[in-house]
Amino acid sequence: AKRDGRAHYQYYAPEMNLEMLARMHLEQRLRRAVKQGEFHLEYQPIVDMRTGTINSVEALIRWHDPEHGLISPEAFIPIAEETGLIEPLGEWILHQALTDLADIHAQGIPLCMAINISARQCINTKGISFCQTLQEALETYAISPKDVHIEITESLLIEDKPQRLQCLNTIKQLGVDIYLDDFGTGYSALSYLTKCPISVIKIDKSFIENITNKQSDVKLIRAIVMMAKNLELPIVAEGVETRQQWDFLQGLDCDYAQGYLISRPLTKAHLLPFLQQAVPF
Ligand code: C2E
Ligand code: CA
Ligand code: CA
Ligand code: CA
Repeated sequence: AKRDGRAHYQYYAPEMNLEMLARMHLEQRLRRAVKQGEFHLEYQPIVDMRTGTINSVEALIRWHDPEHGLISPEAFIPIAEETGLIEPLGEWILHQALTDLADIHAQGIPLCMAINISARQCINTKGISFCQTLQEALETYAISPKDVHIEITESLLIEDKPQRLQCLNTIKQLGVDIYLDDFGTGYSALSYLTKCPISVIKIDKSFIENITNKQSDVKLIRAIVMMAKNLELPIVAEGVETRQQWDFLQGLDCDYAQGYLISRPLTKAHLLPFLQQAVPF
């Protein structure tokens, strides 16, 4: 709160309190939700732009709050990160995603699964590294490491924590590829790309959105794709919603696409028929 003694102080205070209350309330509900299992995962297909085949999906968490309905992960993941609830939640996500993946494999459908992890999950408060949790989970569900990808954001790399880099290196050594998510939105010192074990870059959807109306973003995407090619890193374009965007990206020889044009995130029940009908793009 502003404590400069000016008259407007009184106008700020109630607002701040409301925001804090809302936050605390959300935190309480989040705690309960973790206990009561109000979450489920949806899976969004990622298509190979050259062959039109779908080889992988990204797991995205959904929270259905009994009082307030569906709450966006953009709203609750940051709070889960700040409060540490991301640790139990992150474990639940990993186990649910691998349970579903094992089941899909059991039905004879080959598929890779991308799982998002937060910076805070790398090393948990008990000092257990995420790579250990991951390795155990892969064994439990008898899933090959090459069928799982981990998505991280630049923020995980930016804060200089050697333990995290070590965690990423161990994940990579397990045979699990690491994808750099939301590329272009952080303030990437580009040296991360070669210092960290990144296998694939995901271009943030905010750039794709503006392909058809912003010349500056077109130039940026071209530059990103070119750089990735020079570093021999494949690219996923996210948030592809229109045929125009698809054609533009294909023209750049982009590798993979993800977005509403291909499919919205689907529950497992809806994913299976989608994969089986496999309309090539
Ligand atoms: P993200 O990892 O960048 O995920 C992509 C987001 O873009 C998803 O939003 C997805 O539903 C949305 N999206 C996909 N295609 C399109 C499209 O064509 N147009 C538009 N407008 N949006 C599209 P979602 O599911 O709401 O997730 C938001 C963010 O929340 C994620 O961004 C990620 O940062 C976080 N998140 C979601 N699930 C998890 C999770 O399991 N663990 C962690 N740590 N974070 C998660
Ligand atoms: Ca992601
Ligand atoms: Ca992303
Ligand atoms: Ca994002």
